[in-house]
Order: sequence, then structure tokens, then C-alpha cells
Amino acid sequence: MSEYKMWIGGKWIDAQSGKTYPVFNPATEGEIAQVPMGDKADVDKVVEAARKAFPIWSKKSQAERSQIGLKIAAILRDNARELGKIDTLEHGTPKNVASNIAGDFPEWFEWNAYNARSLMGNTVPQSPNELIYLQREPVGVVALITPWNLPLLMIIEKLAAALMVGNTCIIKPASINSLSALKLAELLDKLELPPGTVNVITGPGGIVGEALSSHRGVDMVAFTGSSDTGKRIMSLASQTVKRLQLELGGKNPVIILDDANVTQLAESMTGRQTFNCGQICASPGRYYIHEKVYDEFLEKFKVAMQKVVVGDPNDEKTQMGPLVSAEHRNRVEGYIQSAIDEGAKVILGGKRPTTAPLNKGYFVLPTIITNVTQKMKVAREEIFGPVAVIMEKFSSDDKVIEMANDNVYGLAANIWTQDAARGMRIANEIAAGTVTIGRTPGKDQDLPWGGFKESGIGKEHSIYGLYEYTNLKRIQVDLTLKKQN
Ligand code: NDP
Repeated sequence: MSEYKMWIGGKWIDAQSGKTYPVFNPATEGEIAQVPMGDKADVDKVVEAARKAFPIWSKKSQAERSQIGLKIAAILRDNARELGKIDTLEHGTPKNVASNIAGDFPEWFEWNAYNARSLMGNTVPQSPNELIYLQREPVGVVALITPWNLPLLMIIEKLAAALMVGNTCIIKPASINSLSALKLAELLDKLELPPGTVNVITGPGGIVGEALSSHRGVDMVAFTGSSDTGKRIMSLASQTVKRLQLELGGKNPVIILDDANVTQLAESMTGRQTFNCGQICASPGRYYIHEKVYDEFLEKFKVAMQKVVVGDPNDEKTQMGPLVSAEHRNRVEGYIQSAIDEGAKVILGGKRPTTAPLNKGYFVLPTIITNVTQKMKVAREEIFGPVAVIMEKFSSDDKVIEMANDNVYGLAANIWTQDAARGMRIANEIAAGTVTIGRTPGKDQDLPWGGFKESGIGKEHSIYGLYEYTNLKRIQVDLTLKKQN
């Protein structure tokens, strides 16, 4: 077992209280580390460090900052294997998946390092005696509060953009998966970043996250997590009118039309539903299947879901590992039970594996629930597990649009058809930040990602994501000014 420290102002320190908390391996339930339990006093310290670094980091030339970004990318590439191993250890991500995820980390820094150099301003034509120009400036000290579901990726996406345009950053990782953030700090410590440019503070969201969200010295909160926490952060941040970027939950409709290729779809939806044990904001949340292909899809989907190899995340053959924690498994099982209580049918899974070694660890088998109606809890709330929710059959495009939009979330939607025009007509009516037709969404650097409604505010990735971390300033000059002697 290892003991970790927080990285604040370029120094490795314990929480001022001296308290720590344990981190567990979700596949074995064994304790793997003790991590400092920061509190309000540590938040004051970390904010002071980031504020002190801000004038230094923000005044560096963009070329210099971008070069540092490329060095970060290189160091992430050199350490991808190790970062992947931490993901497997603390999150239960199957080995092969974890190494693919870690392999993408450098590109986030490369993309932002290059594109931050093209963030030019504009001049505004007004009158010959006036010069008006708009320039983008860093917001200041940014708190990055992140979830456990893809522990380091969720940090890297935000950090790369915030840092490259000149902000100083305070990372507050999810408590149950904070080791990868501390490993990242160890790697960054090898570079010539001014102390306090990036900091990592660990501790409970209810204390550390809240103190950061309400702190006068924090200019922006970039948050990924549940909608309930996002709402709490909004209310705390309102006290100082902070900039917010919120990536929240989803209950993503998958609309399967009567002309969809259901054989291919059964396979691809299985991969999508069980990827990261369903702990992905863009996972399928509700399946709406046209009555003409309903039985065929369900039969093939059930066969494909049954074949998913659930097991030890360190085994190369494993496709799906455990859920992240005992608490989260209870939550997922609670949803399955609620569906049964409300009259839905579990036609696959719904249980934990009972044979050794999978009777230890937070495993739940791939699950399919049918006969779900719009009002049921599993149709309305995000489950965040390997649980496919099959809604009642539909027969008209208008009806499926109405049902798909009947939810507080608006993150992503998938439409499956071979008729692009029909797919686009439906896409126009769907209230979601990302709609894909005939494919699932990628989280590419070039494309904006962000939800409508209670799925969030603002965008990540792409040039729109970079803008979120800048203030737009108007400067207006009277060109008739003359110096009076
Ligand atoms: P939570 O909202 O529980 O936690 C996210 C982060 O917020 C953690 O660091 C947590 O700290 C912190 N936090 C908790 N309470 C507070 C508080 N009162 N004030 C400030 N910070 C707080 O989310 P999960 O970690 O459970 O992540 C799952 C959620 O994330 C899902 O809803 C999922 O959809 C969403 N998500 C959205 C994505 C998107 O792109 N839209 C992408 C990925 C996930 P601690 O760990 O200490 O509790």
C-alpha cells in the first residue's frame, strides 16, 4: 500500500489536518493507497499558490506555453503504459481498454498547444478615427473538478485547454479515483512549470469542491460530474459570479428505425453499453426500437450481451470489469430493483456473478430490462452501469421524437437508419448537444462536446472549448488623440 501527498505550489504536502482516506481496488475490494484528506484550510493554500503563479504563467508568450504543452504531451506518451495500469488498478478498467485511453492523452495537449497559437483577436470596423479590437485573455485561476468514470481523461481534456491559453489550474479529482491525478502531478513536476501553475488537491467534494466553488480567489469552475453536483456548484459559484463550464449527466436516446441494420447494431450497441461497465456519460440511456425490428434486435442484442467477457481487468481477454465502488454497485442494483417494482422485466443479467473469483469485487452482469415506460425511474434517471433500458415499441417518427425529448437531460442521441435524410429530419428535432446518425459519437478534439438542458453549460473540445477558458475583451481607441504639451 502507498501513501500519497497533494501537489500544491510545486511542493508535495500532506493535508494540514494530517488526515487521509483509503482508495480501493474495485476488482478485489483491497485497499491500495491512503490519500490526503484536504479541507478548507488546504483550499486557501492551493488558491493562494495558483493566484501567485497566474501573472507568471499568463504573461509567458503563447509560443513558450505551447512548447511546454508539447513537452507535457511527450511525457504523457512516454508514461502511457503506467497511466493505463493505474486506471486498471483504481478504476477496474480492462487492461487493453485502459492502455488505449492512455494512448490518446498526448493528443489532447498537442491539439490545444497548436490551436492556442491561432487564437487571434479581431478588429471591428467602425470609423476611420477609431480602432476597436477584441482580444482573448485567460480567465485566471480555474478549478477543475472531475469525476471517477474516466479518471485521468476527464482531467486531461480540461487541463490541456485551460493551461494552454494561460490559466493556472487547481485539479480536484474524484476521491475514489485520485491516484492518476497524483501521478500526473508527479510527471508535471519534472517540467519547468512555474510553481502553482498546476496543483492537485484531494479530499471530499462536499468540502474541497464546495470551498473551491465558492472561493473568491477562483475565477472559473470547469466541472464534469452529476447534474445534482453541477446544480450545487452553480449555486455556490453564483456568490462570486464565476465562469462555469459544466459537463453533466445524460439519458441518451438510441432510436432504431425500421430500416436499421439490426445485426450489426446488436454488436455495436453491446460494445457501447458495456464499455467501461456502462460508466460513460454518452452510454445508451434509453432504446427506442421501431415495432418492425423490435423482436429481431432484442433477440440479437441479448445473444451479444450474453457473450461479453466479464472478468479480472488485468486479463487480456476481459471486455468488462467491475463497477467502480460498492456504493455505486448498490446504486445500480437499486435501479434494477426499481424497474422490477414498477413492472418492467429483466430479460438478462440483473445480478452479480456468483462464482469465484468474481464473487469478490464490484461486478454486475450485463443486464437488459424491457417493458419500460416513460414514467419509470430507469427511463428518467441515469443508471451509469451495464444496464440496457428497452422502452416500449414505437411506430411513428413523430412519436419517437416526442418520447426521446421527454427527459430533463440533453447530452447525446443516436439515430439508426439507412436513410440519411430521414435521420436528419429527426436529428433537427432532438434536444441534445450531439446527435449521430448511423454511428456513435467520438469524443474528438476537433468537435465540440457539451449538453443541452440539465446535461450542462458550455462546450469542451474544439475551438469552442478553448474559448470557454478565455475572457473576450473589447478595447476601443480614439485615434484623434493628440498629446497636449
Ligand atoms: P459527482 O458529481 O458525484 O462527482 C464529480 C466530482 O464532483 C468529484 O470530484 C466529487 O468529489 C465532486 N463533488 C461532489 N460533491 C460536490 C460538491 N457538493 N461540490 C463540489 N464538488 C463536489 O459525479 P461522479 O464522480 O459520480 O461521476 C458520474 C457523473 O459524471 C455522471 O452523472 C456522468 O454522466 C457525469 N459525467 C458527464 C460527462 C459529460 O461529458 N457530460 C462525462 C463523464 C461523466 P468526490 O469524489 O470527493 O465526491
